[in-house]
Amino acid sequence: MDTPIIEINEAVTKAYEAFLTYRLIKAPQKISFLHLIADTIDKQREQLSMIAEKETSLANERLQPEIDRTVNQLRLFADLLADDRWVRPIIETGEPERKPLAKPDLRQMQIPIGPVAVFGASNFPFAYSVCGGDTVSALAAGCSVIYKSNPGHPQTSHEVARIIIESAKQSGLPEGIFSMIEGTSNETGINLVMHPLIKAVGFTGSLKGGRALYDACAKREEPIPVYAEMGSTNPVFILPEILAFKGEEIARSLAASNTSSVGQFCTNPGIIIAHEEGDPKKYYDAFSRVIRETPSSRMLTEPIFKSFEKSMKEVSGKKDIKVAAVADDDSHGNARAHMFITSGENFLNDRQLWEEMFGPSSVQVTVKSNAEMMKIAASLHGQLTATVWGTDNDLKSNIDLIRLLELKAGRMIINGVPTGVEVTAAMNHGGPYPATTDSKFTSVGTQSIYRFTRPVCYQNFPAFLLPDELI
Ligand code: NAP
Repeated sequence: MDTPIIEINEAVTKAYEAFLTYRLIKAPQKISFLHLIADTIDKQREQLSMIAEKETSLANERLQPEIDRTVNQLRLFADLLADDRWVRPIIETGEPERKPLAKPDLRQMQIPIGPVAVFGASNFPFAYSVCGGDTVSALAAGCSVIYKSNPGHPQTSHEVARIIIESAKQSGLPEGIFSMIEGTSNETGINLVMHPLIKAVGFTGSLKGGRALYDACAKREEPIPVYAEMGSTNPVFILPEILAFKGEEIARSLAASNTSSVGQFCTNPGIIIAHEEGDPKKYYDAFSRVIRETPSSRMLTEPIFKSFEKSMKEVSGKKDIKVAAVADDDSHGNARAHMFITSGENFLNDRQLWEEMFGPSSVQVTVKSNAEMMKIAASLHGQLTATVWGTDNDLKSNIDLIRLLELKAGRMIINGVPTGVEVTAAMNHGGPYPATTDSKFTSVGTQSIYRFTRPVCYQNFPAFLLPDELI
């Protein structure tokens, strides 16, 4: 059911009024609020997981760690608020005697930006959804949140929204600091972000969705920041010496990462570039074995499955592409893992191969030379991650590749897999467009709070007017 525009207006107006009170509430009350949400989700984890399992086809074993992550994330932000330094206070006392001009007293800190509209992805019904990183970082910053429910898991969304609303009530916080609206048409989300009282947008999902919201917000009378985290193909480069030494081992790691959760991770390694000099045959054989043995599985939603099927059909039909392996299990209505191989030259000429094919598939590219590998790296668009496999010798002789890739990606990985995103202060889950619409920010980890704050400088303020953090 779509939330009518009149109810969207009501929710945003309430969120604005609640924000005016909530932003000034002291840290201990906000900390208890975040802990209460975490404890309640923790207590209800079995029931929540059961509902999400039915709606998303994700297994309980996949959902439980996601609930852990969601709960830990809430507690991490509660810990962040316990130390005032998170507002980045800068205190420069005045020098009235300075010649030729007196220096004013200047103090700066971050304050919350206002009501935030949040959109979650279908593939993480907890960690990137109603109470995911966007909502939690906005609430921790002191913003109110209006969440647009993802149509992929409506019941799970209701249950989690109920927990946040109830926790706010029990914590004595103003009604309206969190609310959820629903819609199965794009119009609902657009109506939400166009509301003049919305001051920022947090989005996790497809490039198409993120771009539509970004463009809509740019046309508002008051344009606002849109922090959209979107798809990525997460290129992996395998250098020759390590490929020759450990090809099979690398294949098993990457294929497990590529097929895990039916390939429905934004950090899925979708493009893998292997250097011909390392003789990739053993690597390809081992990778294709895993693909053939991967059980076919249901995807999150019917539209995601249809889109995956369409991509597999189109790519399989291309003349310069070898279909190296398809999962043997052909259960009706399930996604089958695919592995394609092509040459560096063909890859450079076929832009379709560069696009995210959300699901368990990879395009494997055999490059003839370092020059061809560098050409591919130089042509890549923005990515959430870039991975390089190499021995020390490989890495030392390919420093220019690393330096080039760090211009393209938000997280660089050596000898590992891109799936699995730690929630910590040092994490950066972001990257140049089209991975995100603002590469200066992360959507995961404590630094993500700064998407929903802005700096204010207080000049010559008497102590009684200054925020506590600046005294
Ligand atoms: P999605 O289809 O883009 O939906 C995300 C949310 O945006 C939904 O609430 C959707 O609701 C809304 N939306 C989509 N298109 C819209 C439009 N044109 N106008 C207004 N609202 C719109 O994404 P998804 O299928 O749920 O998630 C899968 C995608 O997310 C994959 O591409 C994956 O790589 C990406 N992802 C990225 C990250 C990351 O951190 N970068 C993490 C997880 C997933 P309505 O359709 O009802 O409007």
